[in-house]
Amino acid sequence: MSINRSRLRRHLEELAEIGKIGDTGVCRLAHSKEDRQAVDVVKGWMEEAGLSAKIDGFGNLIGRMEGENHELPILMLGSHIDSQPYGGRFDGTAGALGAIEVIHTMKDNGIKPKRTIEVICFSDEEGSRFNKGVFGVRALVGMLEEGELEREDKSGVSRREALKEFGVETDLKESPVYQKGDIEAFLELHIEQGPVLESKNKPVGIVSGISGPIWLTVTLEGFAGHAGSVPMNLRKDAMVGASEIISKFDRMVKEKGKDTTVGTVGSVQVFPNSRNIIPEKVEFTIDLRDIDLEHRTKLEQELYTIIEDTSTANELSYSIREDTKSNPRYCADWIKEIMAEEDEKLDLDSPVLMSGPFHDALFMSYISDYGMIFVRCEKGISHNPLEFAEMDDIEKGVNLLYKTALRIAEKTG
Ligand SMILES: [Zn+2]
Repeated sequence: MSINRSRLRRHLEELAEIGKIGDTGVCRLAHSKEDRQAVDVVKGWMEEAGLSAKIDGFGNLIGRMEGENHELPILMLGSHIDSQPYGGRFDGTAGALGAIEVIHTMKDNGIKPKRTIEVICFSDEEGSRFNKGVFGVRALVGMLEEGELEREDKSGVSRREALKEFGVETDLKESPVYQKGDIEAFLELHIEQGPVLESKNKPVGIVSGISGPIWLTVTLEGFAGHAGSVPMNLRKDAMVGASEIISKFDRMVKEKGKDTTVGTVGSVQVFPNSRNIIPEKVEFTIDLRDIDLEHRTKLEQELYTIIEDTSTANELSYSIREDTKSNPRYCADWIKEIMAEEDEKLDLDSPVLMSGPFHDALFMSYISDYGMIFVRCEKGISHNPLEFAEMDDIEKGVNLLYKTALRIAEKTG
């Protein structure tokens, strides 16, 4: 018993036609016309798979297959089908359509699960339109923030209006939809969006958890002056301080980080940003991630010392703003154990790896145990039309998802 590869392939190819850009890219922004078209097509596939499907007030597409025992907490599978404005064909879709394929395979094999299974295509995972993502999943678990429906896109359309245009009436009072205890497990398959599986020459990986990022904004202030007249020993150059901190931070992460630690400075602003003025103020961002919270905290402390010492040495004042500090969320051991057992039977020899990017599963983790499966993607490229995953690899990953889902659907304890 394994999944129907050609059906899954056909679904992936057909979905990639909606909002297609160029030969291999897609643009299906949240709540857009293309998004609605995709949701309608995928809803049809859910129904063919034997799910009863509906679109909720937040734009989530939810399919349900009743189990024999309604007392049991449900099993939930899913991912998203919206995309980045210049996105690829596999991000989200491999997991969303893979989950539907799992149910279709159960139907083909005449399996009626003990517990009810729901398959969800979460709305607006990507967040590019309203600059705030994972909207659908946060609505389901009660993690929306105030004013979210009033957030506007670049053309001044609010989320509320966009959802109306999409065809749903939103009522915030409906959130949360699920409480702790409603869901036994949430499973998500996703392309890795990184190069680790490719470097290990493995098609599939079992995820250990999602490492939360620390996002900081560091501001250094010195004193502006004419680049031609102020002697070097009298300068307070914020740019020199920033460049020292950035390279010391990079060295620290490389030397003291584990395999799972990553650190990035991705954005720098210089004031007044002129070739003949000594930079007075420099603002830059820090992104530091590790699945090991204790280790991440240690490196964070060390970073603070680097900023303090370097600022003092360069006679600069500094401030650090903490923008985000999310903790790592670990996959449930019991789910990873089931996955590892099924993985062995499938002879996949999948390594365990952590996820740097976050996914819908991160938010599901606040109300349910969760597990994730990664599928290798070429050169780790994602959020790009060049994103590519082999059908062989997707098939293997979805088979692992299928076997894991079967075990959890049948388990009664
Ligand atoms: Zn995604």
